[in-house]
Amino acid sequence: MSDETRLIRTGTLAGPLAKTVGPPIQKGSTVLLPSAAALYDDDNFVTYGRSGLSAQMSLRSALVDLEDAAGVTLYPSGMAAIAGALLALLKSGDEILVVDNVYKPVRRFCDQVLTRFGVAVTYFDPGASPEALVSGASAAVRLIFLETPGSLSFEMQDLPRIAELARARGILTATDNTWGAGLIFRPLEHGVDISLQALTKYVCGHSDTFMGSAAARDPVLVRKLEDGVTNMGWAVSGEDAYAMLRGLRTLPLRLARHGESGLEVARWLRDQPEVAAMYHPALPGCPGHDIWKRDFKGACGLFSFALKPAPDTAVEAFLDALQLFGLGFSWGGFESLAISCAPQLRVRNFERDYGGPLIRLHIGLENPGDLIADLRSGLDAYRRLAG
Ligand SMILES: *Cc1c(COP(=O)(O)O)cnc(C)c1O
Repeated sequence: MSDETRLIRTGTLAGPLAKTVGPPIQKGSTVLLPSAAALYDDDNFVTYGRSGLSAQMSLRSALVDLEDAAGVTLYPSGMAAIAGALLALLKSGDEILVVDNVYKPVRRFCDQVLTRFGVAVTYFDPGASPEALVSGASAAVRLIFLETPGSLSFEMQDLPRIAELARARGILTATDNTWGAGLIFRPLEHGVDISLQALTKYVCGHSDTFMGSAAARDPVLVRKLEDGVTNMGWAVSGEDAYAMLRGLRTLPLRLARHGESGLEVARWLRDQPEVAAMYHPALPGCPGHDIWKRDFKGACGLFSFALKPAPDTAVEAFLDALQLFGLGFSWGGFESLAISCAPQLRVRNFERDYGGPLIRLHIGLENPGDLIADLRSGLDAYRRLAG
């Protein structure tokens, strides 16, 4: 054989793979089929690498386990999972009801993309009762999009009740369960049709890889989600799927620590004179605590609190004085983060008085005593400018 041919034929694996605790990471767009008949055999599961190979398949089966689902589809980011599920299930002429405290990029997708394809988008007050929400839905409503607790402001919704009422009217429910991470809340067990997650956050846990998932129990829905992924041409890499699987192994331990430390910091904050209100569903007395207690198995490290009203400069001084908390929009990694929320709250239709400027914290895996000392120095800086 000539060199060109030899170099194309060489370097492939001869025997079976050694067995490691994780799956092998297969890389491949081309999948070699065993025979001419297999090329167009509909029972042949994998004929092309875009649908995912060993690591992606392993991750999907682990997520089926985690979510107690019939099927899970993967997407290149959490946002892609939400966009992908909605595009797979909605059509022109449909209406979607979206909770007003939804993750802001979802709102942009609904307003800029769904409306362009003839889907009517209606935002509803997160405080609306399930009965009023579902009985007030028009005949065109195909899907209710939920997120609980809601982004930034942490309102809790009665998902089991909304799902039950919606199902009786033939309306689908989907929820962004990134806060629950498939572990402290399992939407499918509570009757929700589609559970969506930004795996980027807690499942990854290390702030370095993007991925999203959609899980469902109804085989018809699973098929539609899978067709949606195929039709949009989405693929995730084996390395990234492997990173998510690695994160899953320690998810319960990390979440437990994030949750405990988060509550310790929240309890301390509640008693500080500069703090007007807490928004943490697992903290007794906070809005939605009853629903959290009934439906959730724990908490993660993400919550908000309101400073007492003060000029913007005092809020900025608080954030700028923090040394251990990074200023950044993400969460779910090992590191603590803080953001101010006001500019993101302005796009909402239903305004609420939080008691003062809202700050969202992600409590990482650092020592909570160190984090509390850091927050104290931030509050001191705020106090100097709060007047
Ligand atoms: C981050 C986030 C997403 C989007 O995830 P990406 O992987 O960053 O696209 C969706 N929903 C919530 C609640 C999030 O916090």
